Amino acid sequence: MQKDIEIKLAPREVVQDEVLKKTLSAALEIEQTRIKGYKILKRSIDARGRNVIYRLQVRAFIDENFVPDVYRIEYANVKDRKPVLIVGAGPAGLFAALQCIENGLKPIVLERGKDVKQRRRDLAAINKQGLVNTESNYCYGEGGAGTYSDGKLYTRSNKRGDINKVLETFVQHGADEDILIDARPHIGTNKLPHIITAIRETILNAGGEVRFDQKVTDILIEFGKVKGVVVNEEEQLLSDSVILATGHSARDIYELLDRKKILVEAKPFALGVRIEHPQSIIDASQYHCDIRSEFLPPAYYSLVAQVGSRGVFSFCMCPGGIIAPCATYENEIVVNGWSPSKRNNPFANSGTVVQITLDDVKGEDPLRMMRFQAEIEQQAFKLGGGNLVAPGQRMVDFVQGKLSSDLPKNSYLPGTKSVMLKDTLPDFVALSLKNALPEFGKKMKGYYTNEAILVGVESRTSSPVRIPRDKETFQHPQVTGLFPCAEGAGYAGGIVSAAIDGINCANAVQM
Ligand SMILES: Cc1cc2nc3c(=O)[nH]c(=O)nc-3n(C[C@H](O)[C@H](O)[C@H](O)COP(=O)(O)OP(=O)(O)OC[C@H]3O[C@@H](n4cnc5c(N)ncnc54)[C@H](O)[C@@H]3O)c2cc1C
Repeated sequence: MQKDIEIKLAPREVVQDEVLKKTLSAALEIEQTRIKGYKILKRSIDARGRNVIYRLQVRAFIDENFVPDVYRIEYANVKDRKPVLIVGAGPAGLFAALQCIENGLKPIVLERGKDVKQRRRDLAAINKQGLVNTESNYCYGEGGAGTYSDGKLYTRSNKRGDINKVLETFVQHGADEDILIDARPHIGTNKLPHIITAIRETILNAGGEVRFDQKVTDILIEFGKVKGVVVNEEEQLLSDSVILATGHSARDIYELLDRKKILVEAKPFALGVRIEHPQSIIDASQYHCDIRSEFLPPAYYSLVAQVGSRGVFSFCMCPGGIIAPCATYENEIVVNGWSPSKRNNPFANSGTVVQITLDDVKGEDPLRMMRFQAEIEQQAFKLGGGNLVAPGQRMVDFVQGKLSSDLPKNSYLPGTKSVMLKDTLPDFVALSLKNALPEFGKKMKGYYTNEAILVGVESRTSSPVRIPRDKETFQHPQVTGLFPCAEGAGYAGGIVSAAIDGINCANAVQM
């Protein structure tokens, strides 16, 4: 017999098998010897009360042996099957490729960047010398923007597809099984590259292809039907199905579509700064303690405020993380955040951003939001003074309109320069942030402090362009066989939702 039940444990007890079994037997009112095994279904931290506890959903196996789950999809060989061109090897492209194989189609993944190993060298040049390789950086290369990220795997888009399938596929390729049960699962930058490599090997072993340094420079279309793509301005690759999963940074792809008179639309996005605190401040506030227990992970937060008609919210919070330089061009500053699996860096960062509407950027140009985003990133670069040095300001100084006399120690490796951050942000964004930050301080003790630094600019929160598609067929309304996919097309925001959209697009391709 199996029974599901919720139990509560103190943080130190969660790692003690005997205590867990004892608590289960008490909760189920049966002798402990009858519990032959258990499976944790969900695990979350509840820090609302004075004492922080873990809440566990547990399946107890009573008088019945526990059989562990095996997460394994068998991928048949598709070498000689119909080819599907997939542009971009981010989460969307890779999961689209796996799904193509499951569906008996041969994926050919074309990625402008390099494989995970070679990509590392380009990231080192970004961090140490402030040099951006425009084809291989934090956004471009194998695994896309998701590889050198925090690897947070939660999504609000649970209606769009099978989240568990995505998580189980990560587990099949080497991720820890904890991601299947944690309320806020994450993988970590140190582990993601191995998992991405394993996914590539699955694709290759099944007869699919993954090609690097293959920048798609044109899409071949005849009589409203896709015929294939041009790679690096020379080689033509033919297929009647192209999944376009190029992410939200590939401005050249939006420009290409617009030039070819293929419909694209301006899309609202959010813009702001990355805010970093010492992790100890966040821990003390969230766990109501002076020093975090060794049995608790570095604490997380999520904050939201309404300033007039605008939402201001924290985004992509990275406990124990690093602020990353995520520019894809040489003369711009774009920040984001990542953390290793243990989240053991001394800082906590999050994007803190303000909603931008289409009315904020007047005009008819479908690429106007993208151009607006680019201008702000270039202004941040100028303000930093070059070499990816980012403009920064202490939190209270920013709100009070004072130049910081110095900046706190922080994790952004290319360096930060003290400036008036309002000089790089649109007035309404600066004003919304100024109003929201003291509000956040009221919600979270210790948050509103000059020990925190604001680093500009957090501008690639979601795509500033939407590539339209039919709800049923997932194809572009003007181009049969062109599947606009995931974040770059405006249908996903994050690793899991991008992966799900990749799966959905692959399922929409005709055999
Ligand atoms: C530092 C950082 C941390 C992040 N942390 C998280 C997190 O913790 N959790 C989370 O859910 N999300 C996180 N994100 C966001 C997440 O990575 C993206 O939402 C996700 O990767 C989007 O997936 P995608 O496949 O749609 O696009 P992308 O991952 O952007 O992949 C697109 C790929 O297409 C390639 N490409 C572009 N143009 C071309 C072309 N012309 N030809 C060939 N290839 C091309 C690019 O090189 C890229 O590899 C983070 C992002 C960054 C940058």
